[in-house]
Amino acid sequence: MTSDDLLARHRAVLPSWLMLYYAEPIELVSGEGRRVTDAQGRTYLDFFGGVLTNSLGYDIPEVREALHRQLATGIVHTSTLYLIRQQVELAEKIARVSGIPDARVFFTNSGTEANEAALLMATNHRRSHQILAVRNSYHGRTYATMGATGIRGWSASPLNPLQVAWLHSGERLRGLLARLPEADRIDAAVEDLREVLATQTSGDVACLIAEPIQGVGGFVHGPDGLFAAWKKVLDEHGILFISDEIQTGWGRTGEHFWGYQAHDATPDLLTFAKGIGNGLALAGVVGRAEVMESVPGISFSTFGGNPLSTAAGNAVLDYLLDHDLQANAARVGAILGDGLRAAVADLDRVGEVRGKGLMLGVEFVHPGTGEPDPGLTLRVFEACRERGLLTGKGGLYGNVLRMGPPLTLTEQEAHEGLAILVDAIRSQATEESAR
Ligand code: PMP
Repeated sequence: MTSDDLLARHRAVLPSWLMLYYAEPIELVSGEGRRVTDAQGRTYLDFFGGVLTNSLGYDIPEVREALHRQLATGIVHTSTLYLIRQQVELAEKIARVSGIPDARVFFTNSGTEANEAALLMATNHRRSHQILAVRNSYHGRTYATMGATGIRGWSASPLNPLQVAWLHSGERLRGLLARLPEADRIDAAVEDLREVLATQTSGDVACLIAEPIQGVGGFVHGPDGLFAAWKKVLDEHGILFISDEIQTGWGRTGEHFWGYQAHDATPDLLTFAKGIGNGLALAGVVGRAEVMESVPGISFSTFGGNPLSTAAGNAVLDYLLDHDLQANAARVGAILGDGLRAAVADLDRVGEVRGKGLMLGVEFVHPGTGEPDPGLTLRVFEACRERGLLTGKGGLYGNVLRMGPPLTLTEQEAHEGLAILVDAIRSQATEESAR
């Protein structure tokens, strides 16, 4: 199955810690719609889209044409020291859809850089290097963003330029607050925030950075309204709020365009990436002008907002809005989510099916104890691939199967993927129970 020669060369020249999915890694060579094809000619329905980067599907004519037009100018790569029309246009559009009044936009090449820039702005603005972050979070792979990452396995250095205090996320299944009834969890999370502020910080804190739905953490989220309740406390102290929308943005959750909108709490800074490029490197920060201006001197990015990426970004955002893909994510996501919940309700190996829109996770547990079961998760993950479905995996304990298909997913494809998922889960979960 695997391109053996390429795998051997990969292993010889790239660092061993670069994760490759699957026991037999796949080399994808083309894509169309929601399907991708590997070097051996096998086609897969893609329910992960390169970690939710593929928002529109593959080979979208509007995006291809925008890129061709840009390539035809001969300006494929250039620094952003010159005026770039499509950069300005994209910034205007993102400022408009951000929901943040009087917003400014700074483009970067990756989500990590976007969060790094947001943390830089917040810490400069507040003249403090103390921040609040959420347990089980993921924000990137630079020192500051790793420092704000609440999953030890994804934080590859003990060095941290920030002083971080950790909050409970208010999730349903695990952690201290999960033991409480749903109705009490927001109050408990606010109490936790107040206690953390009083006991672990000087009170002089720059910001809270949080994902509306934790991506790498296994699509975990607290109750709707949590951010608003947190923000009331933050506002008392002048603490800024950064919403990391790198996975939850662009309508993926179905119910809203941004994840923060489920909470009725507008962030000071919002970071975006992944889905806006539909495969191209494009990310950034959008936020309140006053905070965005808090960078001493000039901060520059050679490629951030470059002509090719922003040509794609404009085409992607126009497509997302023109085709109301948020509504599609809600409609098709409900088919997938409800179908999955119903189909595995009887399985004691499934702790929870959760998420919103087209961001859905299945947590696998040991029966009786409810302890995480990463082994079963891996087997289901491989079984999906054998049946022609690409998914993701993750979670603090590696026991969550993650689905984040392109937002253009059709009803028929949702049913097709659902049937594969259910078959893969049932075959592995019942085989396991029989052991
Ligand atoms: N924040 C979140 C919520 C993410 O999911 C990711 C990527 N998985 C990042 C930040 C980092 O983005 P990138 O990999 O583009 O640097």
